Amino acid sequence: MYRLICVNCGYTYRKDEIIYECRECGHLLAVEYDLKNIQVSLEEWRQRPLSVWRYRELLPVSGAPVTLQEGGTPLYHLKRIGEELGLPHLYAKHEGMNPSGSFKDRGMTVGVSMALELGKKVVACASTGNTSASLAAYAAKAGIPAVVLLPAGKVALGKVAQALMHGARVISVRGNFDRALEMVHELCISHGLYLLNSVNPFRLEGQKTIGFEVFDQLGRMPDRFVLPVGNAGNISAVYKGYKELMDLGFIEKIPKMTGIQAAGSSPVVRAIEENLPAVVPELSPETVATAIRIGAPVNAEKALTAIRSTGGTAIRVSDAEILAMQCSLAQKEGIGVEPASAASVAGIKRLVEDGALDKDETIVCVVTGHLLKDPETVIKQCKPPVEVDANLTSLLSVLQL
Ligand SMILES: *Cc1c(COP(=O)(O)O)cnc(C)c1O
Ligand SMILES: [Zn+2]
Repeated sequence: MYRLICVNCGYTYRKDEIIYECRECGHLLAVEYDLKNIQVSLEEWRQRPLSVWRYRELLPVSGAPVTLQEGGTPLYHLKRIGEELGLPHLYAKHEGMNPSGSFKDRGMTVGVSMALELGKKVVACASTGNTSASLAAYAAKAGIPAVVLLPAGKVALGKVAQALMHGARVISVRGNFDRALEMVHELCISHGLYLLNSVNPFRLEGQKTIGFEVFDQLGRMPDRFVLPVGNAGNISAVYKGYKELMDLGFIEKIPKMTGIQAAGSSPVVRAIEENLPAVVPELSPETVATAIRIGAPVNAEKALTAIRSTGGTAIRVSDAEILAMQCSLAQKEGIGVEPASAASVAGIKRLVEDGALDKDETIVCVVTGHLLKDPETVIKQCKPPVEVDANLTSLLSVLQL
């Protein structure tokens, strides 16, 4: 009970058509459900386990999904960081707790399930790292080959390790992510591989369930929903999901969608600041937060709508602010995330410092990927362990208790 619709011109396509861009105007496609004919209630949902598949009436997959039990991630109250910032209702949704360690698993369970449903035999993506780790795992589960293109030298170690160990064909491209995406897109069109980047409308359907879970876990809607923005798929997906809940009459208001980018890679922020109709791509994006090192976000058009229509905002944070917040989350809250993930909470700190936030707001920050994804950046920030001789005297002389 759905079809594909162009987000720009409204031209519609059959649900089983394999297409990533509108033939009329070249813009992206989205899944549009026949919401009037969907029979579901919040009570019914809430009797099922918390997971992506709790919300299956609003997902495109008809048969049994390819699943590694994704979703159902913890929502933590950030008590200490909240106290420091004067925010009593600050939360973090820890997407690093997914099977492969990032929110990408929510998209891949749906995307790879759809690949099988559509009869596709090989899946592919370009990736700053996590998409490739996730696709490799889900392709392994489905028993089909995966091809992943990575920007050479710019992918965190843990993510490359995952893609390799799960058995994907891993290709390093001498170019940045934006170029790798163009290449894999061409490859998929010319050779019939199934493209699972966030231009794939089905993948984003899985990702919108982050928003649904937050609503269920809080028991109400947050006032503000904060995400790190790279390709801008996730922020667009969560917004789309909340619009569907509103159309179903389950909620009355959508939170202020707030996107955070790294200062060296912030085309969406610029478009919001300068009130541009579209983003101007950045040619050489650079940031320690490699997961959001993207100069030409493919979902930017939808993200701008999400931010503008909810009274949200987009701001940038420096690499130093990102790393400091990664450290705070780890040491004050026990939450281990990779640098890009800390950007959402670092962005909230910046908004507080700029006096741009109502401190009574209920704020949910998505922290997108796990600490172990990028051990090299972590080790660089921490003092190395102290080595001692194997006796108690040496140990005590170091500890100075
Ligand atoms: C993919 C990713 C992002 C960016 O998400 P987009 O949907 O591309 O905006 C942020 N953080 C992590 C850890 C990611 O893997
Ligand atoms: Zn169109």
